[in-house]
Amino acid sequence: MNIVLLGLPGVGKGTYAKKISNIYDIPQISTGDMFREAMKNRTKIGLLAKTYIDKGNLVPDDVTIKLVEERLKQDDCKNGFMLDGFPRTIAQAEALDKIVVIDKVLDFTASEEIIIDRLSGRRICKSCGAIYHIRNIIPKVKGVCDKCGGEVYQRDDDKPKAIKERFIVYKKQTEPLIKYYTKKGILRSINADWPIEQVDNVISDARKALEE
Ligand code: AMP
Repeated sequence: MNIVLLGLPGVGKGTYAKKISNIYDIPQISTGDMFREAMKNRTKIGLLAKTYIDKGNLVPDDVTIKLVEERLKQDDCKNGFMLDGFPRTIAQAEALDKIVVIDKVLDFTASEEIIIDRLSGRRICKSCGAIYHIRNIIPKVKGVCDKCGGEVYQRDDDKPKAIKERFIVYKKQTEPLIKYYTKKGILRSINADWPIEQVDNVISDARKALEE
């Protein structure tokens, strides 16, 4: 099954994507994670992406599309994949349609208040990308990832000024995708307005939508 996840930055896509991709045994492909990895390794794409990402802007379509196109050619995508954070523009969605057939699009929704709280308290592991939160998902040792021992930090784009910009960008550039996929009849809305401890409710609704 080829799946796309939509939803405001901070709605929890990364967390849901990890769980759903485990259930269906398909890779989670997060363009955000791919860019962060490239930035960490200071590759050409990473250095370019950083200039956009730190401000909360989107990396240009041509760069992002090429990255995803290459990734989808890999063997592990043969039986399906889950795209988390791609497409984010109509141009990206149209490019994707030329490469593969998308079976379902899950659009996760939650109130902006909840999302801002999740984003501003979010911390992630620099090495493995594990997600923490300052109030309810706290690593056992402060600043150290439980899973791999990596450094747990706050993304620059999770700081208030960039969060604001990312919301504006989402509404302008990504929200039109809801109409785009609704017209194709493959979009399902999933209520993600649950406290983070009740993530299983979201996953259960997502499974129902994928299996209907
Ligand atoms: P994310 O981890 O999905 O929130 O992505 C972090 C940042 O990476 C975004 O705010 C964008 O700057 C960039 N990014 C991720 N995916 C895309 C995409 N599909 N198109 C353009 N920029 C992206």
